[in-house]
Amino acid sequence: MLDSSFALPESIDLAIVGAGPHALTLVTHLLQKKKSMRGRFLVFDPSGTWMNRWNHQFAAFEIPHLRSPAVHHPDPDPHALRTFAESRSNELFPPYDLPGTRLFQDFCQEVIRRWQLQDCVYPAQVVKIEPLNLNHRSRFCLRLSNGQMVSARRVVIANGGGTPNIPEWVEQMSTSYPPDRLLHSSQIDLQKLRLRGERVLIVGGGLTSGHLAVGAINQGAQVTLISRRTVYEKLFDADPGWLGPKYLKNFWAEPNWYRRWQMIQQARNGGSMTPAVLTQLRRLERDGRITFYEQCQVAQAQWSDNRWRVCCKNSAVHECIQNQKIDRIWLATGSRLDATHHPLLQDILEAYPTEIVNGLPVLDECLRWRGCELFIMGGLAALRVGPTARNLSGARAVSDRIVPALTKACHLSIIN
Ligand SMILES: Cc1cc2nc3c(=O)[nH]c(=O)nc-3n(C[C@H](O)[C@H](O)[C@H](O)COP(=O)(O)OP(=O)(O)OC[C@H]3O[C@@H](n4cnc5c(N)ncnc54)[C@H](O)[C@@H]3O)c2cc1C
Repeated sequence: MLDSSFALPESIDLAIVGAGPHALTLVTHLLQKKKSMRGRFLVFDPSGTWMNRWNHQFAAFEIPHLRSPAVHHPDPDPHALRTFAESRSNELFPPYDLPGTRLFQDFCQEVIRRWQLQDCVYPAQVVKIEPLNLNHRSRFCLRLSNGQMVSARRVVIANGGGTPNIPEWVEQMSTSYPPDRLLHSSQIDLQKLRLRGERVLIVGGGLTSGHLAVGAINQGAQVTLISRRTVYEKLFDADPGWLGPKYLKNFWAEPNWYRRWQMIQQARNGGSMTPAVLTQLRRLERDGRITFYEQCQVAQAQWSDNRWRVCCKNSAVHECIQNQKIDRIWLATGSRLDATHHPLLQDILEAYPTEIVNGLPVLDECLRWRGCELFIMGGLAALRVGPTARNLSGARAVSDRIVPALTKACHLSIIN
């Protein structure tokens, strides 16, 4: 963290919003390409530290290891994590050496130390980005949560996951309820809960619902898991073919942005659980600790007599859910990425209108917003990068596109 004596300059070359794995990957790749970029950028994050949200999420869901293999990490050397793990091979989990949570965190700290990035993160949230036009040269004014302002020649937005996806029946609920009895996964911290004797209804069939179910059962809760589809297992979010030309060749050859969007949806195919987590849950199902309501959706819920009463859309089949005494509802319903609702993109959209396809902006090959020096990392870059844009592998692919533009190397050795 920058120490309190650090005076925020009035003007900087490059502002990076967010200090998660995407920003960290970008910065290491940028410094590898051009050492002289050191001192020319600042990273903004409310926590003032790298990887804060990542570390919090893994702790809050008590996740033992990553879903992605050890080659995916923020350092430019793909072997760096394996080398780091040489004396800790018991922290690489089968089937493909998935890094343990602690190992990955320690490795990221080592990356931060080795690249001397401890003092790059300014502790503030960016609340607004306003385009400025000074003497025909565009710049940006970043307004910070502490009331300060900074002007930047270029901006990279790397602020992660979008906004929580809240089902309609929640929005439509007319009666009030204790706020802690209905939470989105992003608000849940298993470490702070005591659930013995309670019944938790988890909505969603992805890996987050799996982690939450295991965590709640470990605390003595009974779990009901309701999911629109049959819960299915898949090792990774998207088939590894999306990491190289096998699938990306066709994706890049597709000129229609809507069809690209559909390809992204098909590749991610909603939520899935890893075989390890699903096997664990099926075992717990046999022990009577969890009940699956698959191909089913909540129709409505009402808080009365200190419990939830829930009706589902298949009430003819699952009438029993109405009689369950449900103490908590957890929404593992993911998040929504939508540039038109992104708080930092409102002024940009107005000053530099661009095509948006189902929430995703059409960026140039370098992931630059049309007409200005603003770059986008993460899931919002998926129309160019493909379905893994939001993942750790995507962070590298995204950096490979943005770094040449930031270092002004004109030639891009990428297809589209
Ligand atoms: C529980 C979980 C586990 C995952 N596991 C894996 C995995 O094993 N492998 C994999 O490849 N992917 C995984 N992912 C997907 C993805 O890699 C992560 O979501 C990753 O955190 C994305 O990195 P990021 O830097 O884009 O976002 P984040 O990690 O969310 O970091 C963004 C940062 O931006 C900050 N920020 C937000 N708004 C502002 C603002 N206005 N101003 C300043 N700062 C701001 C936030 O505080 C945060 O620190 C996982 C996702 C989740 C939720």
